Amino acid sequence: MSISRGSGAGATKTFNFKLVLLGESAVGKSSLVVRFVKDQFDDYRESTIGAAFFTQVVPVDDQTTVKFEIWDTAGQERYKSLAPMYYRNAQCAVVVFDITQEASFEKAKTWVKELQRQADPDIVIALVGNKNDLTSRRAVPAEEAQAYADEAGLLFQETSAKTGANVGDLFKAIAKKMPLDSQKHSQ
Ligand code: GDP
Repeated sequence: MSISRGSGAGATKTFNFKLVLLGESAVGKSSLVVRFVKDQFDDYRESTIGAAFFTQVVPVDDQTTVKFEIWDTAGQERYKSLAPMYYRNAQCAVVVFDITQEASFEKAKTWVKELQRQADPDIVIALVGNKNDLTSRRAVPAEEAQAYADEAGLLFQETSAKTGANVGDLFKAIAKKMPLDSQKHSQ
């Protein structure tokens, strides 16, 4: 366990979790991570970026911090089906769709089913409707995605990697859902 001085009084406990990103190509997976980790957005981002691994820390309360080890597909989903190896040992998954692309929502549902069948049974899954700055082109109603998420037992958030809307809230909500009482994930 790492005990370090936080900004307030007392010590901080850090818990580590592997988080995988899933979703159809070009829904904004890489953009979401770059927004979250670097607070940047690039309109001309190629649909893949070289780096596939990031870490970011989320304070949960005065004593507790979650460190996410974030795995991005780096575009592999375009060329082959992602091997279960990718999400094996993941404690959390962010399944992303593009609110302007109905097909990407359907694809997200198939990823959720696969995770629920094959990943760690305790995995925390968040469904994310990205690009919610493009409201005039919306093809997936927020209520429909929310209803599906409730039924499937998922967190749900609409985000915009472009404006940054709800991106921090998304990762904070995931951090709060993680098992923070277990020694297993603490460093
Ligand atoms: P990935 O293939 O799922 O990793 O998707 P990328 O992050 O590479 O994004 C694909 C395209 O969508 C890029 O042109 C991004 O600039 C754009 N994009 C990503 N997120 C958003 C968003 O929230 N809003 C808008 N308008 N465009 C976005």
